[in-house]
Amino acid sequence: MPFLSEVVLASGNTHKYRELSALFAPLGFSLIYGPERLDLDVEEKGKSYAENALLKATAWSRALGMPAVADDSGLEVQELGWAPGLFSARVASSDAGRIAWLLDRLRGKESRRARFVACVALVWPGESQTRVFLSEGFCWGRIATEAAGSAGFGYDPVFIPDRFNATFSELGEELKSRISHRAIACRALRDMLELPDMVKSLSVRSGETD
Ligand code: IMP
Repeated sequence: MPFLSEVVLASGNTHKYRELSALFAPLGFSLIYGPERLDLDVEEKGKSYAENALLKATAWSRALGMPAVADDSGLEVQELGWAPGLFSARVASSDAGRIAWLLDRLRGKESRRARFVACVALVWPGESQTRVFLSEGFCWGRIATEAAGSAGFGYDPVFIPDRFNATFSELGEELKSRISHRAIACRALRDMLELPDMVKSLSVRSGETD
């Protein structure tokens, strides 16, 4: 596949940057860590992951005049009416605080069914139009009774994916990069981009040729 282009990640989350860089590598993107180019804070005021991902990717793409990719994601817990969902990052100000918030609410509860959700938006400005690719991925599992493991970020130490008996943090990055919500969303996006001639047409629009 020809070298495609630089794409900026519309986020200052270094963990997401690591995960998405690996997931996009097969496409030949050079993924740029957002804060290396720009200091931009986009309010996540959408009512869906898709809306928020699109808001972030659009704002970064317009500001820099280049393709941008954004991820909006969250954890949904059945016992909590699928909360915290869109507010996953906002229930406390640190990862430790967010985990404590969650474990407190599930203390003594048997039902611990949960899923991670990620929506990935790629906004590609072209000569005649801007093209938008959107995809969503789910990873089902359950919430552990206590935190375990040190890899990853966010709720990884308390999320046990289906078919495993350990948390994402215990299972490690390599395994997570194959089965996570973000991996599934990125794979779907890759399928769209790998359609015959799609990559080539985007390369031409962005000024790159093979
Ligand atoms: P966002 O930056 O608005 O997408 O916030 C997503 C929040 O959901 C993060 O702050 C994490 O708390 C949580 N989250 C999303 N994806 C993951 C993941 O892969 N592992 C652990 N927590 C995650």
